[in-house]
Amino acid sequence: MSYTIEGNTGTWEIVVGLEVHAQVISKSKLFSGASTLFGGEPNSHVSLIDAGFPGMLPVINQACVEQAVRTGLGLKARINLESRFDRKNYFYADLPTGYQISQFEHPIIGTGVVQIELSDGSTRDIGITRLHLEQDAGKLMHDQDPKRSFVDLNRAGVALMEIVSEPDIRSPEEAGAYVRKLRQILRYLGTCDGNMEEGSMRADVNVSVRKSASEPFRTRCEIKNVNSIRFVMQAIEIEAARQIEIWESGGEVDQETRLFDPHKGETRSLRSKEDAHDYRYFPDPDLLPLVVEQAWVDELERGLPELPDDKRDRFIKQYGIPRYDASVLVAEQAIADYYEEVAKGRDARLAANWVTGDLFGALNRTGRSIQDSPISAQALGGMLDLMADKTINGKIAKEVFEDMLETGDSAADIVERKGLKQVTDTGAIDAAVADVLARNADKVEEYRGGKDRLFGFFVGQVMKAMAGKANPAIVNEALKKVL
Ligand code: ADP
Ligand code: MG
Repeated sequence: MSYTIEGNTGTWEIVVGLEVHAQVISKSKLFSGASTLFGGEPNSHVSLIDAGFPGMLPVINQACVEQAVRTGLGLKARINLESRFDRKNYFYADLPTGYQISQFEHPIIGTGVVQIELSDGSTRDIGITRLHLEQDAGKLMHDQDPKRSFVDLNRAGVALMEIVSEPDIRSPEEAGAYVRKLRQILRYLGTCDGNMEEGSMRADVNVSVRKSASEPFRTRCEIKNVNSIRFVMQAIEIEAARQIEIWESGGEVDQETRLFDPHKGETRSLRSKEDAHDYRYFPDPDLLPLVVEQAWVDELERGLPELPDDKRDRFIKQYGIPRYDASVLVAEQAIADYYEEVAKGRDARLAANWVTGDLFGALNRTGRSIQDSPISAQALGGMLDLMADKTINGKIAKEVFEDMLETGDSAADIVERKGLKQVTDTGAIDAAVADVLARNADKVEEYRGGKDRLFGFFVGQVMKAMAGKANPAIVNEALKKVL
């Protein structure tokens, strides 16, 4: 289903392309040996290279190149065996060299694709234009002193991957799904932690609108540095509305760089869009072309983990679970691992229901992630085993589960402690059945007179008499026999 906006002059379509900056997971920076650790004392992770001292020479960090190539493979993208670094020249106080080393004409990764899943169950392919490596800048601190600003260069020189999408995105929902999917892939690969709150992933959002899908693209605006998925979606909606109003009142949208203000719910102009020539890009004379071997790329490809789409498809096939459940279970590697440990050798559908239902419910209630789940995968598996061998029934399992959450005890211990073992002793069940029938002679009469739905009532009464512990199948049998 396509997403459109009703204006005064008709229907509009949104066109979006995203540039995502993802901080590379590596011990040291892109061109220096300084640490990339987050949260150190200001200026404690700064080498002379990062500080832009004259005469210092950058040396490429192979670990960062490896991460970029692995990410490219994860995006099913073309790996360029030869790429180059350029200087992007501009002045700002957080950039001591006066230029950022980036890749302009020859990025390390070329075109690729990311498949997104939408809430109606449909999927779409979003094209990746390129991925290139570049340096991050430092950080200005304006809140330390009333009169002066300071600069912290800990982040200066840290490797970023800029991942540019084609203008293939057509709605806020698709943009959200795209960023989520990208983050999921990067996390699986271990190439970026994807923490948008800490700034290790941020998006520049390019937005334009047009009257119909057959019309050429119109002028876009770029909203810089959006730092959450919710804000990406909001910014698109708000910016599209602004542009539609301009076009409909006979104006022209100017190509410019804008900022999103989530408090005011508006985007505002930062500067008119700069062009490539404003940056005087030129090949960095301190760096050789970056050449990687196909054999090395192949080796990295062999070492890739199973990625979310493949894992989802395998779960559907191997465990016979619905696509939706499989998608939920592969959202994070840790969740998928947990599920597989529970499902292994057990009823995999039942395992999926317990993990996505009761367990996720409990984790949400207590604001925990799967890593600090009070019930381990082994413990949950142990409970399923007790259901499988009929020690407990489904109803008692709910009670056992709640107890496991609270006490951390094993299901077996809880069943023992509370005496919850299912009663399969037909003598005891027959006695309870006889008692229930004796106490409800009138209902027995009605049932025998043809009121079939009363059967459930008798089951309920017998279960109640046996504190929920009777084996439901045996209760059914026993009732059928005497009714
Ligand atoms: P620049 O390098 O000047 O930022 P690019 O052509 O590389 O420009 O595009 C940057 C981003 O803008 C890409 O993600 C691209 O998909 C997106 N984009 C390009 N044209 C449009 C458009 N008309 N509407 C929306 N997004 C666009
Ligand atoms: Mg750009």
